[in-house]
Amino acid sequence: MTTAIAFRRVSRHYGEVRAVDAVDLEVTEGEFFAMLGPSGSGKTTCLRLVAGFERPTAGEIEIFGQPCSKVPPYRRPVNTVFQDYALFPHLNVRDNVAYGLMIARVGKAERHRAAEQALEMVALPGYADRKPSALSGGQRQRVALARALVNKPKVLLLDEPLGALDLKLREQMQVELKSLQRQLGITFIFVTHDQGEALSMADRVAVFNEGRIQQVGRPEDIYDRPETPFVADFVGSSNVLPPEIVERLTGHRAHASLRPEAVRLQPGGHDAQVVELAFLGAVTRLTLKMEGQALTALVPKGQALPEKGSTVQIGWDNDALHLMGSRDG
Ligand code: ADP
Ligand code: MG
Repeated sequence: MTTAIAFRRVSRHYGEVRAVDAVDLEVTEGEFFAMLGPSGSGKTTCLRLVAGFERPTAGEIEIFGQPCSKVPPYRRPVNTVFQDYALFPHLNVRDNVAYGLMIARVGKAERHRAAEQALEMVALPGYADRKPSALSGGQRQRVALARALVNKPKVLLLDEPLGALDLKLREQMQVELKSLQRQLGITFIFVTHDQGEALSMADRVAVFNEGRIQQVGRPEDIYDRPETPFVADFVGSSNVLPPEIVERLTGHRAHASLRPEAVRLQPGGHDAQVVELAFLGAVTRLTLKMEGQALTALVPKGQALPEKGSTVQIGWDNDALHLMGSRDG
């Protein structure tokens, strides 16, 4: 398997701010790779480093095995799709898509043909003569995608590309993007702060926090076997139990994650107070307190619910309690 993009101990510091801090990473050719993390965790800076808009303060990025510190952005086989589209309002869709080719002095007939082809890929044929203002948000996002695809990049960098869309459209575009990526076989590096989006779309996910990678793995690994409390909390909205409680439960002194859907109401289990109930549709979320520790449980619709303020007994399967190391600090 070919490595498309490699980070070799890459840092980008701005004065005191460690936007990206000693990141090691390999993205395989043809992979749908997600960078997931909260705002300010260094995701955009990573993409800008790959695109060549930023330079590492330490370390090296390789693109298809070539160190690229001396390669200018326009010579790199990558293109970026930004969240805010940045379409030219005075140009029609065709010319927006063909803009990069025009700058590269590709002839008119050829670049128009390439633009039409790219618009077909994103399911927008027939829209070439419209201005961006005559398109919906989802259609504009497709134009931005076509504009990146028209250059036939080997790697597409997508920086929160669906962030501006409403939920329904976003979910639809997630499915479309995923199938487009499969169909084209292009390597995608997809940045998002939305864990559901990352887990549902990506082949592998890197979880970022404060410029560092906390964990890289397949979605099910990240979700089922978080390696740090941060990953458990951010990715799974999982309960993170402190070492004192885990020691009493298991004999091991370590943090542990316990997914809310694994917590059951179970007579004879551990005592817990019901602090809050929130009806979410298919499930009800219980906020509980066990030995002073807040815990979330999800109760499927149809099951009997306890009253707020009451004491219940809870339990879970042994393997639901997942012990973690700590990579913080
Ligand atoms: P994300 O995309 O995950 O939200 P960014 O990569 O944009 O995060 O930013 C990471 C950190 O680096 C943030 O603390 C941000 O304020 C800082 N940062 C990014 N770009 C610059 C810059 N040009 N100058 C100073 N600080 C920056
Ligand atoms: Mg960002």
